[in-house]
Amino acid sequence: MDVRAERVRKEFDRFPALHDVSLKIQSGELIALLGPSGSGKTTLLRLIAGLERPTSGRILFGEKDASDRSVQERNIGFVFQHYALFRHMNILENVSFGLKVRPWATRPAGAEIYRRAMELLDLVQLSGLEKRFPSQLSGGQRQRVALARALATEPRVLLLDEPFGALDAQVRRELRKWLREIHERTGHTTVFVTHDQEEALELADRLCVMSQGRIEQVGTPDAVYDTPASPFVFGFIGASS
Ligand code: ADP
Repeated sequence: MDVRAERVRKEFDRFPALHDVSLKIQSGELIALLGPSGSGKTTLLRLIAGLERPTSGRILFGEKDASDRSVQERNIGFVFQHYALFRHMNILENVSFGLKVRPWATRPAGAEIYRRAMELLDLVQLSGLEKRFPSQLSGGQRQRVALARALATEPRVLLLDEPFGALDAQVRRELRKWLREIHERTGHTTVFVTHDQEEALELADRLCVMSQGRIEQVGTPDAVYDTPASPFVFGFIGASS
């Protein structure tokens, strides 16, 4: 499903966190919102999710204005930096939870929940660990569970906010490749927030480079790398070459 932000402005106590931002996220693409801390990435994500309301402008899902839709109606899958798994539930129960909160019409029942949860654990390569609790997993494994739980809801849009931010460099690199593969298999419309330029360039179909509440550039990783419009991205290229 296409998601569009049309001249979206968001003020907090008159402070403009986003200035009339317009962006079209294409159905099935993985787009990275890239920018330094405070550039408005999370605010844009929260507006798409319906966790915040725009001060002006609108968010559209397909052709429909999403303004009056609740978070649940928007059917968003969320993965945050800090796992937010249920600590008292094992891995299978965490993923099953995602299946049980689906709208009634598409909610599986009984044995089907188990079958589908096991399938999702297989997709995120955690088969065999279903009886473990989150405290018995590594950080990378926990984020895999978080993603399986988000996918279980069959979201129309998947929003990932610095999902690998708390992990070390080696694990981040592995998860990047892995997420790319999962995306290619599942094809969800996905928005990935990061301040890590290497991560965005490697992972995304397109990048949306943000700075001080504005969108500086939108393009493929190659286009942004070759002709960066923002000094933020240019800084990375200078540092790595
Ligand atoms: P990023 O995700 O790029 O780090 P954010 O979207 O979190 O940036 O923040 C953008 C700006 O909006 C920052 O200056 C931040 O302090 C401000 N901001 C975000 N959320 C709130 C809030 N709930 N109340 C006040 N200011 C906020």
